[in-house]
Amino acid sequence: MVKRQPLRMCVCCRERDEQRNLMRFVVSNGEVVPDPTGRAPGRGAYVCSKPECLQAVLKKKRLSQALKAGQGEAVEKAIVALQRVKE
Ligand SMILES: [Zn+2]
Repeated sequence: MVKRQPLRMCVCCRERDEQRNLMRFVVSNGEVVPDPTGRAPGRGAYVCSKPECLQAVLKKKRLSQALKAGQGEAVEKAIVALQRVKE
């Protein structure tokens, strides 16, 4: 039997995918920060690697809306890094 992976939902396109295909972000000290390990405590939100979703995070601050916290430089750096990987 194939072991089922937990599914996570992208805050931008609302599609579900396996956790390893999405990037997790959490709130730390009132600011959204990337969680590359996927294990940080606290409320998390996920973003998939589709270019339009990465753009929505940068331009429309979708993580900030989803987590009700400030979206600072750490998020932008993480998203830009993800975009580079995709290119
Ligand atoms: Zn998405």
